[in-house]
Amino acid sequence: MAGLCAAARGRELGASPAVLEKGTRAGGSMLLSSGVIWCYRTFEEFRAQCPGGDERLQRLVFERLDEGLEWLESLGAPVVTRETGNPLTTGVRFDPEGLTGSLLGAAGEVRFEQSVTVTVTVTGVPLVLASGGFQGDPELVERFVRPAAPLRARANPWSAGDGLRIGLERGAALSGGMDEFYGRNMADVDFGEDGFVSLAQVYGRYARIFNERGTEFFDHTAVSWSELDLVQATAHQPGARAWYLLDEHALDERVRYGTVRELVDAAPTRIDPTELPFEPPPGTVAAVRVAAAITHTIGGLRVDDRSRVLDRHDRPIDGLFAAGVDAGGISTGGYASGLASALVFGRLAAETALS
Ligand SMILES: Cc1cc2nc3c(=O)[nH]c(=O)nc-3n(C[C@H](O)[C@H](O)[C@H](O)COP(=O)(O)OP(=O)(O)OC[C@H]3O[C@@H](n4cnc5c(N)ncnc54)[C@H](O)[C@@H]3O)c2cc1C
Repeated sequence: MAGLCAAARGRELGASPAVLEKGTRAGGSMLLSSGVIWCYRTFEEFRAQCPGGDERLQRLVFERLDEGLEWLESLGAPVVTRETGNPLTTGVRFDPEGLTGSLLGAAGEVRFEQSVTVTVTVTGVPLVLASGGFQGDPELVERFVRPAAPLRARANPWSAGDGLRIGLERGAALSGGMDEFYGRNMADVDFGEDGFVSLAQVYGRYARIFNERGTEFFDHTAVSWSELDLVQATAHQPGARAWYLLDEHALDERVRYGTVRELVDAAPTRIDPTELPFEPPPGTVAAVRVAAAITHTIGGLRVDDRSRVLDRHDRPIDGLFAAGVDAGGISTGGYASGLASALVFGRLAAETALS
């Protein structure tokens, strides 16, 4: 998303940007997303939810999101609803296909299956890194996130840390939160793009949460609204797996896409508690095996409030910008909309590069 936003904004400002897209199609993970571009209702809430994030960058997302949303609509991006369904947040849900199409139309020519890599030398023109994070590279995930076992990716297959590598090659500093990621605990089966939403098990707050050794490793009453803390903790358990154990009361709870009972009944890894490899707590009537999956990394290149990539002395690296997931440290310590960051910092990168 961020790259298309940068190109579209750049064209608006009179430039003729070239968009190199590694994949066979446009839109990256944006196309696979639910399309909700959102922010916390107040800046104080943003700080409280993502306390480790860079305050200046968060301020920008908070202050420039509405303008960005209006801009998307002006490009023809189709709105599904102006509600997020979450009392903590405000935002707009776009149709992901329509959103991608509108940005593509405004971005100009996109060269598919053209990868920006460290060996590509782009001299004399600004380069905006917007490769969508490093979740697609198991070696980088192992090095920075340090999960207990390889994580399945719940994202486009092309975001494999190329932006990070190019930045590091040019002397960039890393942001905070390199070991953090946004993801979901999924039913522990292999899945493709059509399972990204349907196999997500987002009701950990109602379950008792055990690892494969039978240790209750997370207090379910402390799970955050996004359940990201639980997903990250699961990644560090044996096999990066967990068991969600449910009693009758838990099954009757309502979650975003129905009741917990409906989700548990549909989960392919649901088993009877008697089949568990350990003794469950009394009252357990269902168990679901989940595994942590990674949607995108949270740490990345350190950027300033003009989207410029910074070196270890916090000096901007000439001609180098980063936006979207490649620009790290915005939601450190919690969860914030990746689409919102991509929109705000993608546009900003073009504005700075052309100023
Ligand atoms: C199932 C699902 C649901 C989601 N729902 C939401 C939601 O409702 N709200 C929200 O805020 N976020 C959501 N997200 C997350 C959101 O999609 C991402 O935060 C967002 O797309 C990040 O934008 P980006 O531009 O950084 O990366 P992307 O949108 O993934 O774009 C990165 C692009 O870079 C390309 N690329 C990679 N390497 C190279 C290279 N070397 N050279 C050239 N091109 C390269 C990729 O192919 C890709 O097209 C969801 C994600 C998923 C998977």
